[in-house]
Amino acid sequence: MGAQIFLHNLLQRFYANTRIGGVPEISGREFGIGEFGKKISSRHLSFCSADALNAFLREKAPFYISCSAARYSLPVARPMDAKGLIGADLIYEFDADEIMTSCKTSHDSWKCSSCGAGGKGRLLECPQCGRGAQVEEWVCPECLGETKRLTLRLIKVMERDFGFSQGLSVNFSGSKGFHVHVRSDAVQGFSKAGRLELLDYITGTNLSLAPLGFSFPRGSGLCPKRGAAKGWARVLLEGVEEAFSQNDAGALAVMANVPYRNAEKLLKEKRAIMNGMERGILLGMNGIRAEKIWKPLLLSVADLQKLPVDRQTSTDIYKIIRVPDTIHGSTGLQAKTVSLQELSSFDPLKECVVMGGEEVLVKNALAPRFYLNGKWFGPYNNDSLSLPEYAAFYLLARHKAEVA
Ligand SMILES: [Zn+2]
Ligand SMILES: [Zn+2]
Repeated sequence: MGAQIFLHNLLQRFYANTRIGGVPEISGREFGIGEFGKKISSRHLSFCSADALNAFLREKAPFYISCSAARYSLPVARPMDAKGLIGADLIYEFDADEIMTSCKTSHDSWKCSSCGAGGKGRLLECPQCGRGAQVEEWVCPECLGETKRLTLRLIKVMERDFGFSQGLSVNFSGSKGFHVHVRSDAVQGFSKAGRLELLDYITGTNLSLAPLGFSFPRGSGLCPKRGAAKGWARVLLEGVEEAFSQNDAGALAVMANVPYRNAEKLLKEKRAIMNGMERGILLGMNGIRAEKIWKPLLLSVADLQKLPVDRQTSTDIYKIIRVPDTIHGSTGLQAKTVSLQELSSFDPLKECVVMGGEEVLVKNALAPRFYLNGKWFGPYNNDSLSLPEYAAFYLLARHKAEVA
């Protein structure tokens, strides 16, 4: 039996036993499906109800199913203009590939198709011949944990800076990251330009200190009063507090771009500096202009707080994105919706495993060490072995093993 038929049988079993609930205002949305090896093979589909969607999933069990962030009066119409846009949710996507964590050197690898060289890590250019190299990406608890941390920060920004707490929903993408849907009524009519402006805010694009209320007249430093600061100004002042509370002179020296001994002096003055921020004053040090310490420090804090969301996902109103709680056909994992309260302790590579545990024989398994369902597997080097169904799906779907 080929991998495609084997995987399709598993998808069919999943949809026969699972009802997919969560797409609000389903009849106004455009859907697209994908087949083995192709994430979107047809789109412009629509379903009048959750029942109709579930009947379709039971019958077809597609490898991928996505739906629009937008709602239309005629979702099946083409071209896109003919659909009659009613409104669109905001969507933010965080992908582990975009976030540089140290684990990449252990699970990612590169290969040059021109000269055949290859190795561990993420190398985009071949060191042998200088041509472009292909990177094979995997995920692990470390990079998904970092992705989750950024997702939690975005939620805080949405709630605190924009008041979008109504209609916020988060789900695992089913593969390498998280999707945040903002379905609040307030955002539905946002124009493309408005969406772009929000995105620039979140990603800290073109962030500069003066418009946020930071200034450095005649060697001194002024800031918004700590208690009254809003938006990015508040984020920066909180970040400074955080940097001081670590009591780590080495780290502070790097952030403020000062010698270690000056960072130590700054830490000694911590209480006075914090009091100054309450009053809207950025204290300097004897003989050093406030600007020289504070500008690098504030900009370092800003760099740590910028959120690297996928730009294309957030600005394309016509984008279709994985239907929450369906299966991602490249992994066999469920794109599970997770409550905001549970997100911090959520382990997607364990809790989104929905395929069974029966042993399946596979051959030519090729993979770095990987984590699934709370266990570690591999590494495999063209091995024949028996794997639980969920791990077999994970490798077969990305052509990293064959059915024996
Ligand atoms: Zn090469
Ligand atoms: Zn990782």
